Amino acid sequence: MYKHHWVNGRNIALPAGKVVCVGRNYAEHARELNNPIPEEPLLFIKPSTALASLRAPVALPKGLGDVHYEVEIAILIGKSLKSAAEHVVGDAIAGIGVGLDLTLRDLQNRLKSNGHPWERAKAFDGACPLSEFVLPTIAEDWQTIPLRLSIDGVVRQEGISSQMLFGILPLISHISQYFTLLPGDVVLTGTPAGVGALATGMRLKVEIPGRLSVSTVVQ
Ligand code: ZN
Repeated sequence: MYKHHWVNGRNIALPAGKVVCVGRNYAEHARELNNPIPEEPLLFIKPSTALASLRAPVALPKGLGDVHYEVEIAILIGKSLKSAAEHVVGDAIAGIGVGLDLTLRDLQNRLKSNGHPWERAKAFDGACPLSEFVLPTIAEDWQTIPLRLSIDGVVRQEGISSQMLFGILPLISHISQYFTLLPGDVVLTGTPAGVGALATGMRLKVEIPGRLSVSTVVQ
C-alpha cells in the first residue's frame, strides 16, 4: 500500500489522503490540447486509491486506449486548510515532490464530448504515481520551482512554477474554499506542454532539478 516518504527513504507520519488536481494550469499545455485558457482553476480529485510510488514500475491499465503522462509539481499538505487565505498556505505545506497525473486520454475525450465527468479517465487505481517529498525551505520561493520529465534520455516536459496561470499558494487557497485540505492530502499543480502517450518499456526520469530525481520504467 502506498505511503508518503521523505527523499531519504523515511516514512512521513501523515496518512495518504485525496489528491486535488488542477487542469490547464500552464497556457502552453491548454493550447496543445485545444482547450481554452481557464479564468478560474479547473479542479478535479483523485482518491487515495489512485496513489502509487514512482519508485515502482508504472503499471498501465490495459485495453482502455492511450495512457498519457502529465508531470506535475506535487504539494504535500501538513495542516488542515479550510477557506484559507493565501498568506497562511505556505506554513501548511509539509513537502514538495513530483507526481504523474496519468490520464486515459481516449476515454477522457469521449467523456468530455458527452459532457460527462472525467473520473474514470483520471481517478483509476494507480493513476497518481508520486515521488518522495523534500522539505520546503524556510524562505521557499513558490514561483521558481522547476520540474522536468525525460523519457529514454530525451526531455519531454519542462516547466517552472512561474509559468502557472494560478500559482501554488493562490491555487491552494482557492481549492480550500471548496474542499477542506487535510494533513496528508496532495495537490497536483498542473502540467506544462509536451504530454504524450506511455508505452511499455519506456524509461522515465522525473525531476525537480537540483532537489529530487526519480527514475522508473513503464510496465
Ligand atoms: Zn494534469
